[in-house]
Formats: sequence, structure tokens, C-alpha cells
Amino acid sequence: MDCIFCKIVAGAIPSKKVFEDERLYAFSDIDPKAPVHILVIPKQHIAALAHATAGDREMLGHLLGTAADIAATEGLNKGYRVVINNGPDGGQTVDHLHLHLLGGRAMHWPPG
Ligand code: 5GP
Repeated sequence: MDCIFCKIVAGAIPSKKVFEDERLYAFSDIDPKAPVHILVIPKQHIAALAHATAGDREMLGHLLGTAADIAATEGLNKGYRVVINNGPDGGQTVDHLHLHLLGGRAMHWPPG
């Protein structure tokens, strides 16, 4: 297993867990870009959003809904941002699908 996020799901690399269910794991980003920066990932290894199949559609909806639930739990009632970087031009650096939940400050637009 060569994937850093698979190792986090397995507990082989420590992480600050925020949420877990049978399909998803959420944890604090090690290098936060906002006061709240949480990564929500499928436990199943999917390299990127572009690699998700038709069979992953329900999980993708669950991923998005769970991000909204976590944002509410974190008290981000002034707003927040969700980001999925895909591939080199998208800025993806870890090849395991992950959703960034960012909040606790005003976000800028457009992103860099
Ligand atoms: P990407 O650039 O692929 O969209 O985002 C990868 C994110 O994973 C980055 O924000 C980075 O800080 C985070 N990250 C990379 N390695 C680790 C790690 O070992 N632990 C945690 N908690 N976050 C990590």
C-alpha cells in the first residue's frame, strides 16, 4: 500500500480524526490553509475524481453531504468552501480522492 491517505485510513499514519463512517474518513489537514481545513475522503482508494465510476456516484453524493454536515458541526455558519483538486492542473498532490472543507475566514475568488 503506497498511498498516504490509505495509510491514514488504516491508522498506519496518525491523523486528527473529525468524522468516520463505513465509507468515509475525515481528518484535519496537516498544513491548514484556513482556520478550519478538513479533508474528507472515501476509504476506498480512488486516485482522483476523474477516476470515479458510475458505481461511485452514490458515494460522491454522500461525500458532499457529509462535508456539509461537518461544516455545520464545526460551526461554519458564516460560510465555507469545498474544493476537489483533480490532476496536475487542478493542483492535486495526493493521488487519493479528497474533498477540502475550508472555513473560519472569508475566501477569495477566483482561486489561484
Ligand atoms: P491536494 O493538493 O492533493 O488537493 O491536497 C492534499 C492535501 O493533503 C494538502 O492540503 C496537504 O496539506 C494534505 N496532506 C498531505 N499529506 C498529509 C498527511 O500526511 N496528513 C494530513 N493530515 N494531511 C496531509
